[in-house]
Amino acid sequence: MLIDDAARFPGDPDGLQRLWTPHRAAYIAGENKPSTPATEECPFCHAPSGSDEEGLIVARGDTCFALLNLYPYNSGHLLVCTYRHVSFYTDLTDEERTEMGEMTQQAMRALDAAMHPHGFNLGMNQGEVAGAGIAAHIHQHVVPRWGGDANFFPIVAQTKAVPALLADTRAQLATFWRK
Ligand SMILES: [Zn+2]
Repeated sequence: MLIDDAARFPGDPDGLQRLWTPHRAAYIAGENKPSTPATEECPFCHAPSGSDEEGLIVARGDTCFALLNLYPYNSGHLLVCTYRHVSFYTDLTDEERTEMGEMTQQAMRALDAAMHPHGFNLGMNQGEVAGAGIAAHIHQHVVPRWGGDANFFPIVAQTKAVPALLADTRAQLATFWRK
């Protein structure tokens, strides 16, 4: 089950916190985490090989795919990844860069239709020093935001997401993505 395989799946709570609290990076960087996994151990390389449900995949493109973060900062927290195991935005081909942008827009539209957020955070942590949880494989965070939700972030970030809720969210977003 996904929740028991957490270390192999995208986005750990600390890595995500570093999107919002960069001052914590020095502390967190010392923790022993699989931030530079080999391709065969990489959660973003692993996810597309299974079903959408198993991988929490919302949509698949030609060069990129979108999946739910196993440790969402907010409900609907998506990641847009390349299929290729590359680290940096500067590694992307023109096709990958274009599709990552398009899928980011699609993710925002699907989230908007499904959950009516008030705003979004978009972002990529590039390199371990910059806070990437899985630094070896590029992933763009798409985080829907609601007024006042920041009050809950410290709690949410340290709580394992309930798989059933993630499954529901995945199905909901996949439906809206196709519309
Ligand atoms: Zn990978």
